[in-house]
Amino acid sequence: MPEYNKLNSEIAGKLCAVVGERRFQLGDQVKPDYSHDEMPIYGKFMPEAVCLPETTEEVAQIMRICIENKIPVTVRGTGTGLVGGCVPVHGGIVLSTEKMNKIISYDMNNMVVHIQPGVLLCDLAADALAHGLMYPPDPGEKTATVGGNVSTNAGGMRAVKYGVTRDYVLAMTVVLPSGEVMKLGKTVCKTSSGYSLLHLMVGSEGTLGIITELTLKLIPKPIKDVSLILPFKDIATAIASVPAIKLANLDPQSIEFMERDIVDSSAAFTGNAVFPTVVNGKEAGAYILVTLVGDSEAELTMKMDRLGEVAEQVGAYDVLVVWTDSLKKDVWAARSAFLTVIEAETKLLDEMDVVVPVDRIAEFLVYTHDEAVKQGVYVRSFGHAGDGNLHIYCCSNDLEEDEFKRRVKALMDKCYAKCTEFEGQVSGEHSIGHAKKEYLRQSVGDTAYSLMGAIKNVFDPDGILNPGKVCHDI
Ligand SMILES: Cc1cc2nc3c(=O)[nH]c(=O)nc-3n(C[C@H](O)[C@H](O)[C@H](O)COP(=O)(O)OP(=O)(O)OC[C@H]3O[C@@H](n4cnc5c(N)ncnc54)[C@H](O)[C@@H]3O)c2cc1C
Repeated sequence: MPEYNKLNSEIAGKLCAVVGERRFQLGDQVKPDYSHDEMPIYGKFMPEAVCLPETTEEVAQIMRICIENKIPVTVRGTGTGLVGGCVPVHGGIVLSTEKMNKIISYDMNNMVVHIQPGVLLCDLAADALAHGLMYPPDPGEKTATVGGNVSTNAGGMRAVKYGVTRDYVLAMTVVLPSGEVMKLGKTVCKTSSGYSLLHLMVGSEGTLGIITELTLKLIPKPIKDVSLILPFKDIATAIASVPAIKLANLDPQSIEFMERDIVDSSAAFTGNAVFPTVVNGKEAGAYILVTLVGDSEAELTMKMDRLGEVAEQVGAYDVLVVWTDSLKKDVWAARSAFLTVIEAETKLLDEMDVVVPVDRIAEFLVYTHDEAVKQGVYVRSFGHAGDGNLHIYCCSNDLEEDEFKRRVKALMDKCYAKCTEFEGQVSGEHSIGHAKKEYLRQSVGDTAYSLMGAIKNVFDPDGILNPGKVCHDI
């Protein structure tokens, strides 16, 4: 068990000297937001101080002070995580990357962009488009930092076609717990050069090093795209359509699913009912939202026709084309708002972000709904049908918090065991943090879990970087 020290005035003074008073918060000055992420049910933990560095060298200096004095350091982007990853559960300082927010340069010939980690996803996406390029990863929360996305290997709506954040990271600068600065990766298209420390860092949730610069791959922006809504009788028939849509060789950019109740709530919340509830005289119980991309109107028309044929075969009530740009914006805004809508309607909330083989999605959802009824909580779900990643929210407006937690634990124990039985994984994109550690161990097994712990120990023998997260048992 590592022994950590508390921040005294001498150490605080040294940290403040690195970043300056305007970028240093101590004790009572620390804003309460730094004590939690977007899932406060996992606990609030106030840091003793917050440092807001602007450069790699400042990060390195902070780490040297903290390692010398055994002060825990938890890195934070914008705190939009959903597993308590950026929360300082063992005290110490929070190192926020929010001031490291510069898009440094584009290399158009190699189609890469070089950025600091605190750049917001929405800013990078818009800036890349202005350069005629696209940054393909598209997680729902656009105000997350790209550094946070890399550290959680964020997925999002376009993963079914383009892959996840990991697939776009070519190189990075990392500050190790010792304060040493290391460059990983190069601007090259392939490599077969020893263990990939670059890929080890992706998804490591701030437990191995602090990412201070990133080189990311971009692609030419698609010329045309169209979104289509397929209403179905219920979630089982909706999900059953996914393999057929994938097999039709349409290469969709996204295939999302949503249940009717969340669509109704979203319409009430946004005041904009963009998903039709009655189609050809039939009540829709669930939806599939597909986006197709192409180089020309003719290509898109050919793909839409083929999707229409598939939709008929799999029992969709209709195929509703989202023609106008403003409607497309509204439909995707509604989709992106689902979690916010659930949060607004719910007193107590916990979530699962499992990923299962695509053909087990419906079975898993039915199992979860049944088990939730037994526990007296209700679940609401939506997610990335194209890649089997489900966001399942366990909710209650009636229970006391302790009772809610007890029941949700019983529910999750069963659901994560079912997920393992279905050859799924604990997290498709939201990561482990401190909330899902127990389930990670059960899912990957003791050998893999110990190997992860041994890797953590090699990078961070003093256990000062984001202690207690992922596989770090203390
Ligand atoms: C409404 C909503 C929708 C969401 N939709 C999606 C989605 O579609 N797909 C998805 O994958 N996620 C989604 N998320 C989750 C969240 O946005 C992602 O996990 C995101 O990647 C977190 O980024 P952040 O900047 O907020 O990081 P934080 O929450 O601040 O930190 C997350 C983790 O990354 C580490 N970290 C952050 N920056 C660095 C760095 N520079 N170096 C080392 N470690 C670092 C932290 O220590 C922590 O462990 C959603 C969240 C919300 C609230």
